Amino acid sequence: MSASMIDGKAIAADVRADVAKAVSQLPGQPSLAVVLVGEDPASQVYVRNKVRQTEEAGMVSVHHRLPETASQQDVESLITQLNADENVDGILLQLPLPKGLDADAAIEKIHPDKDVDGLTEVSAGRLTLGKPGLVACTPTGCVILAKRALGEDLSGKHVVVIGRSILVGKPAALLFLAENCTVTIAHSRTKDLPAVCRDADILVPAVGRPQMVKADWVKPGAAIIDVGINRVDAPEKGEGKTRLVGDADYAECSEVAGHITPVPGGVGPMTIACLLRNTVLAACARRGWKVPE
Ligand code: NDP
Repeated sequence: MSASMIDGKAIAADVRADVAKAVSQLPGQPSLAVVLVGEDPASQVYVRNKVRQTEEAGMVSVHHRLPETASQQDVESLITQLNADENVDGILLQLPLPKGLDADAAIEKIHPDKDVDGLTEVSAGRLTLGKPGLVACTPTGCVILAKRALGEDLSGKHVVVIGRSILVGKPAALLFLAENCTVTIAHSRTKDLPAVCRDADILVPAVGRPQMVKADWVKPGAAIIDVGINRVDAPEKGEGKTRLVGDADYAECSEVAGHITPVPGGVGPMTIACLLRNTVLAACARRGWKVPE
């Protein structure tokens, strides 16, 4: 058996097209403020992509740069200023911050109604309580991909999320629970992880260990939504070359699974698409606009 590939790139393009259509029906333009502190090259690429895709969806994107030497107070005052700015609907603080800065404290300064990354305590609390709010982007992307593979109704499916981080594992578990799935959260202390995973209809590895999930961890026909992004050596591409792999061993697992996301091109592209969606939702909630169908 060979699993069908869940094409995150194509599905993310659909989500972005939906966002662009929704934006075109709004009475004004939502706006996203992106804050980048320092010179981290990977963060610069992510920020450029976020700014470009926000603008392509018809929204306003304002890029705020602070130097590597910025103090905690500099970062927090900028966030406070953006909170108060009537023209800003969403605030994204690009992580990681340079060494010496406290990311958690800075995130907590973001007004929950502008927290398009869904990372503040209020956003996490709203998700836990089942109240409307902005939900972390990567987990939202995981649910969308699972629905594309298995259909809208995920109720009764057994989901095993491997990982319990605040950014991915925990919110992913809560989102699948909200879809009436039966959810198991596994982590580094879980006993007999392969056996736990073998019971999953939907397996969501979010660990950061290259190709950890093997074929004999997978229930035949299961869907694997692979969140992990790991850079490994790729001597076959030449000396010093690297490539990206997921937490699942794609070649092996796709012999057993029914559906599987590739890395790259699976969950990754969904994250920005869901950020754009959150920006529209934040703008509608704050400005009293009806969310377009
Ligand atoms: P964290 O390091 O914060 O969390 C990793 C989790 O994996 C922890 O809960 C940890 O358990 C668990 N874990 C570690 N080792 C094992 C093991 N041997 N067996 C079972 N569980 C284990 O990572 P993140 O959640 O931030 O990210 C996870 C992965 O997802 C990374 O590869 C990251 O790059 C990727 N990622 C991808 C995104 C995307 O857009 N596609 C976005 C964000 C992240 P414990 O709590 O017990 O320590």
